[in-house]
Amino acid sequence: MLAVASLGLCAAANAAGLIPEPNANAVVYATKANPETLVLDARTAGRGFMTSTMSIPVVPGPFTFVYPQWIPGEHGPTGPLADISQLKVSADGKPLTWRRDKVDMYAFHVEVPQGVTSIKVRFTVLMNSPDVMSTPNVGVVNWNRVLFYQNNINYHNYYIKASIILPKGWGFGTALTTASREGERVNFAEEPLTYLVDSPLDMGRYYKKVLLWHEGTAHQWLDMFADAPQELDVPAKILDAYKNMTPEALALYGSRHWYNYHSLLALSNKIGFQGIEHHQSSDDRAPADFMTNPKWQLVAGDLLTHEFSHSWNGKYRRPWDLTTDNYQIPQRTDLLWVYEGMNQYLGDLLSFRAGIRKPSEYPQYLAMIYSQMATEPGRDTEPLIDLTTAAPFLYEARGEYPSIRRTAGDFYTEGELLWLDVDTIIRTKTHDRKSLDTFLHLYSEPKFTGPITKTYTRADIEHLLNEVVPYNWHAFFQRHVYEVAKLPPTGELRRSGWRLVYTAKPNPFIQAREELMHMNYQWLTYGFNIGKGGKLLDVREGSPAWTAAMVPGMKIESVDGQGYTPGVLKYVLVQAEHTHQPTTFIVSQDGWFHTIKVSYFGGPRYPHLVRIPGTPNLLARIMAPHARH
Ligand SMILES: [Zn+2]
Repeated sequence: MLAVASLGLCAAANAAGLIPEPNANAVVYATKANPETLVLDARTAGRGFMTSTMSIPVVPGPFTFVYPQWIPGEHGPTGPLADISQLKVSADGKPLTWRRDKVDMYAFHVEVPQGVTSIKVRFTVLMNSPDVMSTPNVGVVNWNRVLFYQNNINYHNYYIKASIILPKGWGFGTALTTASREGERVNFAEEPLTYLVDSPLDMGRYYKKVLLWHEGTAHQWLDMFADAPQELDVPAKILDAYKNMTPEALALYGSRHWYNYHSLLALSNKIGFQGIEHHQSSDDRAPADFMTNPKWQLVAGDLLTHEFSHSWNGKYRRPWDLTTDNYQIPQRTDLLWVYEGMNQYLGDLLSFRAGIRKPSEYPQYLAMIYSQMATEPGRDTEPLIDLTTAAPFLYEARGEYPSIRRTAGDFYTEGELLWLDVDTIIRTKTHDRKSLDTFLHLYSEPKFTGPITKTYTRADIEHLLNEVVPYNWHAFFQRHVYEVAKLPPTGELRRSGWRLVYTAKPNPFIQAREELMHMNYQWLTYGFNIGKGGKLLDVREGSPAWTAAMVPGMKIESVDGQGYTPGVLKYVLVQAEHTHQPTTFIVSQDGWFHTIKVSYFGGPRYPHLVRIPGTPNLLARIMAPHARH
């Protein structure tokens, strides 16, 4: 009874408009002629904070300003509220009282006095929660983190004129147009809010800018900022491969929706690994030696190409329900199996076609992905569509048993196999006259524009694919995306002329990961992965380690009596194959020590793809360069 009565009251309150939904219907006060102004004093960025001062056009009466919550490219309500501090609001030099909304903590209310046409809002931007955004030598500016704007406006019509005051001697890179410069202060042209937030800025003491490609007035730049100057000495061979990004992307899509594109790359061990896509730039963050250590190119050589590909797939073409008119309106993420899933395939494809990674290595890379998807228990109950729908939560999910919970990374990995499946179906049915590239040419019409967005539904994608080759695409996606698909797709492997095998020979992609991430990969043997210092990262359900009750978080102290090192474990693994004796682990957990015996006698096991004799090698054709280098 009580519950029913309460529900009735809530519904009535909502109907009366007391709890309005976020919308984009308000009259915009910040116009092109009278924009909001924003001055970001970044001189203290190296100390972990900046100061932002805004002048926001208003009219007298109740007024609400908001902090961006749903961030494009981050696919979730990730606006970092904890980075706001020392907030002050004033009008005509007099302080104004502000109150945070009790329900929507991203909204702030003030009462604007008569005669006032703008309010000043000032706050300290902390740069360390939840992501580290600056070091003493490098800073990453995401404009959504440093501004407030009028509630319920359409961000295509709301204008901001931004300026930044740089630390002395630091350089910067951004897709924004510089209007004027006075010393360390750079003034940008007034832009719609959506374009400002879509144009991050990297800055730093040590930087290098490389023109990767140009044609007429269009340019692609690589703007690198590093914690140490030596990390900018990129070998010419690596840079030359990156110069193939645009020619290969133009061959893939047959179009371009940017004028001047900046791949912004922060090279730092303190700033975490990240890549966020934008129309005319990408915000890429990688370890310090990312461009100087070729192993990183093997492991993550798709970082820049993945984000670059998003300029077409994600920014230009975007799921209809992920497309909103401001940052307070929730985004729906169900179609990320196209936006991110297809882009995982295309970003990899671009990196191999450009030569950042060798096309001949792609089968080894695929083998690693297949083995991962084939041994993930969470796949037995969770369809792909549930992962994409829950993406805003899953991106933030941490903790043990990721293989049972499944992770946001899965709709990337599984998406790669799904879209390889689509590609090989098209190629086989058309005797290799058409491919996914044909679909992308249709998908990217019109061909040459600046940054614009064209939305799609699932039906649009199926319709476009049908134009390329008639097939029951609806049933295909129903089976692989919308229902539980217990086994990873393997039809595409057979069609490509390859099959998956497990041997004792190490897989080079797994080996590079082990080395760079201080990991010991024993997922296919004992059934666990070991991180730095011997800590178990995850244990595979049903594996020998699982049967012996090993759990994530345990620390391996010794193996058959010897102190644990990756080398000792690998030695014992090989011995056990011959002696058929269980391996004895001493593990520690919360201050207790346990002895655990694990029975595994299969020796080292790594995934590989091998050719099926007498069949066409589609993988080689797919990954071969398509542009003239
Ligand atoms: Zn992506």
